[in-house]
Amino acid sequence: MYTLDPDHAMAELLVTARSVWTGIPGQRPFAPGAVAIEGTKVVAVGPLAEVERQLAFSRLYRRVQLDDLYLMPGLLNTHVHLTMNAGDDPVPDYLSRDDLALLLRAVGNARTMLLSGATTVRDCGSRGYGLVLLRDPAVQAQHTLPEVLVSGPPITPTGGHLHWMGGEADGVEGVRAAVRQRAKAGVDAVKIMATGGQMTPGTRPEAPAYRLAELRSVVTEAHRLGLRAVAHCLCAEGVVDAVRCGVDCVEHAVFFTRDREGRLVREYDSTAARILADAGTYVTPCLSAGYHRLDAVRGCTDLGADDRFRLEQEEKMLDCFTKLIRLGVQPVIGTDAGVTLTPFDETYLELVLMSRAGLGTEEVLLAATYHAAGALGLRGRKGEIRAGADADIIGCVADPCAGVEALADVVWVMRRGEIVVDRRKKAVDQP
Ligand SMILES: [Zn+2]
Repeated sequence: MYTLDPDHAMAELLVTARSVWTGIPGQRPFAPGAVAIEGTKVVAVGPLAEVERQLAFSRLYRRVQLDDLYLMPGLLNTHVHLTMNAGDDPVPDYLSRDDLALLLRAVGNARTMLLSGATTVRDCGSRGYGLVLLRDPAVQAQHTLPEVLVSGPPITPTGGHLHWMGGEADGVEGVRAAVRQRAKAGVDAVKIMATGGQMTPGTRPEAPAYRLAELRSVVTEAHRLGLRAVAHCLCAEGVVDAVRCGVDCVEHAVFFTRDREGRLVREYDSTAARILADAGTYVTPCLSAGYHRLDAVRGCTDLGADDRFRLEQEEKMLDCFTKLIRLGVQPVIGTDAGVTLTPFDETYLELVLMSRAGLGTEEVLLAATYHAAGALGLRGRKGEIRAGADADIIGCVADPCAGVEALADVVWVMRRGEIVVDRRKKAVDQP
């Protein structure tokens, strides 16, 4: 564990900290801890004295003392929409912008994410393929960006959810061609709309959007081409279809039905939940998506029927998530940043809500690191501080292992070995 990677027996940088949590399941934080870095990679991590001893014969290295900070791997946010504006009505704005304007916005949003501690992000749906440019490490370094993974326009039936992103495809052959098109453009994953969505009037969130054979065609072709397949699922049948087709990650995992008044209501579907848990498919619940839409009513007592309904639905959402994790479903962090009132600098809020729903602190942190890396296909390279992994590390004043709220205040960020944020309060020098 603490041994220097034999291929990189040198270190340029030794970062010492009050504590280092590695993101390796079951491993206690090293306190005080240290991380040795060579180039873009971690070469050693462990208790401070141990790492210093290992570096005794190394050539000169620079020492960065963060003795008041708690370090952990940078956060991975597996579901964002970098080209959207996170405003109170994002769709008309989106439709009014050309592709270049959206790309420029995406650069700014991606940087905002990095500066708040998200060192790896996956775009889960944008128009066109401009974001593929942001996958280039040289572009990332030049613009101070996180690692960016992209999925291009979501594959959706004609008139389906987010069809205005340009990803309409129908039929087994049609959706297969859509996957090949995305592979050609250079994406990391394909996103498929297994149900309708609330942002797209005329679609039905409570019903499957594709026939099973179409869904299977997408997943099979994606896997054949080495791409991850993720499915947007807002109803039980959609979840079950997606799981049966072998998707890598179920987004939202909501079990919507309609009540007598025609409103979408959240239910818990124990059969679908069991199938999801047994398959071991990752789930990105996006609990924090649209959280701020209820800021004005949350905590109020004197509410109208509509607001009461919305608050009840929020409680229901957390309750469903609690039941899913009790079944052993593996959640990962994704915020849907970019959609209505869902900003790019609040990855931590998703962790806070998972914690509130009863997921233990270490499990929440792993959902943002180790497990998220698994969901993205980046295990070993991201989400852990270990020899050979990318040196993507964040530091907090409070201890995230004692409460994930600490991540609301990330004051130090290292991205591939380069310090890109240092907001520590500098001690006043004594004369
Ligand atoms: Zn989304």
